[in-house]
Amino acid sequence: MVEIKGKSVCKALTMGKLHFYNTDGCAVKRQKIDDTHGETMRFRDACQKAKAELSDLYQKALTEVGEANAQIFQIHMMMLEDEDYHGAISAMILNNRVNAEYAVSYTSDLFIKTFEDTGDEYMMARASDVRDISNRLIAILSGNETCANTLTHPCIIVADDLTPGETVQMDKEKILGFVTFGGSTSSHTAILARSLNIPAIIGTGIIDTDFDGETAILDGINGTLCINPDHVQISNYHIQKEQEEKRKELLAELKGKPNETKSGKKIDIFANIGSPSDLASVISNDAGGIGLFRSEFLYLAKNTFPTEDEQFFKYKEVAERMFGKKVIVRTMDIGADKKIDYFNLPAEENPAMGYRAIRICLSNTDVFRPQVRALLRASAYGNISIMLPMICSLREILEAKKIIEAAKAELRAEGTPFNENIEVGIMIETPAAALISDMLAPEVDFFSIGTNDLTQYTLAIDRQNQHLEPFFDPHHPAIIRMIEMTVQNAHKHGKWVGICGELASDTSLTEDFIRFGVDELSVSPPHILNLRKKIRSLD
Ligand code: PEP
Ligand code: MG
Repeated sequence: MVEIKGKSVCKALTMGKLHFYNTDGCAVKRQKIDDTHGETMRFRDACQKAKAELSDLYQKALTEVGEANAQIFQIHMMMLEDEDYHGAISAMILNNRVNAEYAVSYTSDLFIKTFEDTGDEYMMARASDVRDISNRLIAILSGNETCANTLTHPCIIVADDLTPGETVQMDKEKILGFVTFGGSTSSHTAILARSLNIPAIIGTGIIDTDFDGETAILDGINGTLCINPDHVQISNYHIQKEQEEKRKELLAELKGKPNETKSGKKIDIFANIGSPSDLASVISNDAGGIGLFRSEFLYLAKNTFPTEDEQFFKYKEVAERMFGKKVIVRTMDIGADKKIDYFNLPAEENPAMGYRAIRICLSNTDVFRPQVRALLRASAYGNISIMLPMICSLREILEAKKIIEAAKAELRAEGTPFNENIEVGIMIETPAAALISDMLAPEVDFFSIGTNDLTQYTLAIDRQNQHLEPFFDPHHPAIIRMIEMTVQNAHKHGKWVGICGELASDTSLTEDFIRFGVDELSVSPPHILNLRKKIRSLD
């Protein structure tokens, strides 16, 4: 038995034979060309053909993985028309008198290197898109359109890396799982694997081809590939697989169905995320939107402040991939248990009651301003809302709104597009905010109740302290009363209210939440369908 570790991109399990997939079928030779005009026309024809293929792939992906994921092929079509890319290849054919295959390969390598050198995960995923387009063009130009390997039986594909095109073109009936030596978790291949629910791990490093044809268990939950498993591992696999099948049945039964009680009461179910890489799970679990994007995770993943542009690309990606569905981004909730060295926060006796979230943002506008600008800029690409955490007073809301208005004025003056009517809401996660929610409601567009902190601050119990768990009771009548009161106060002022703390997924309270009139529940993606099931069972 050999166990290989990787990064999990699709939390599912499979067992089968390994098949090493050949991805270097498209090697290119440099040739001298006399008829550069003819060669340029050959390149243009190849682009047309590539676009037609991508359009077919888009249609195929639309039925297999849904619109959001199929969009990658439209993006590829746009990249094919990109002035810089197209222009550089044509210029190389003309100026260097080289064959189109070589010009495509050389230019693509330059683009790929530029993207990869940024070190940014998003840009690295774009590098893999360029590689996909380049392989497609070269295959067409060289008449070698069967670069794709033919699969004869269901197997676990092992490859250096896979492009989205290769992934979609494969016969899904024959793919049990994917293992790639390299790749990033936000690459489109990873995303497609997740939305097709194909078990997958990436970044395993090179695996010896001697294992070709051997039996293996691919555990996308723990990120392992177990080659030649023993009988204990095989029997554990069967137990886990049975549980997974039950979840799949739930998915098949509930996907696309409304979140509606038998008597027709509706409630939105949104998802909580920490980064764009969570989106595939959001989409595959059929969320109606993002109710809480914990933006501080973008800061926690870095050693220095993320720039405005870095943040803008992440928010834009989420907004675009949610296609007009609501994306509520909570401004950074740094502090308490989420300390970051480069923020240089002073040591505190009581960090949970200290310098945290909106308190940092209002005391240090140089840190807050780039985030607000990034969010506003991204709002031009989808349905983004801004949510302010740890609010205790009206003054905090007014000050934050002033900063948002100032950023809007700057962008207006620069001619940078943004949504003038972007919604601004607040978290209700302190008892103070719940108790004065009638005073806060007129100043905001929505409330989202953070029951994790609301419980911590109402009961005066550290949510981090495991010894206090028997006392940490989110069902405490004080919490339930505050939720009901907050909903009433929001509705009195015509504002909607959601719950984004862990209590939102507690199905023993779903009936109460609906009775109170809660408009939205935002939960981690795997909880969505269970919650939908509960709602649909209620009268
Ligand atoms: C909450 O406090 O309930 C909440 C959703 O925010 P976080 O858990 O990130 O503090
Ligand atoms: Mg909180």
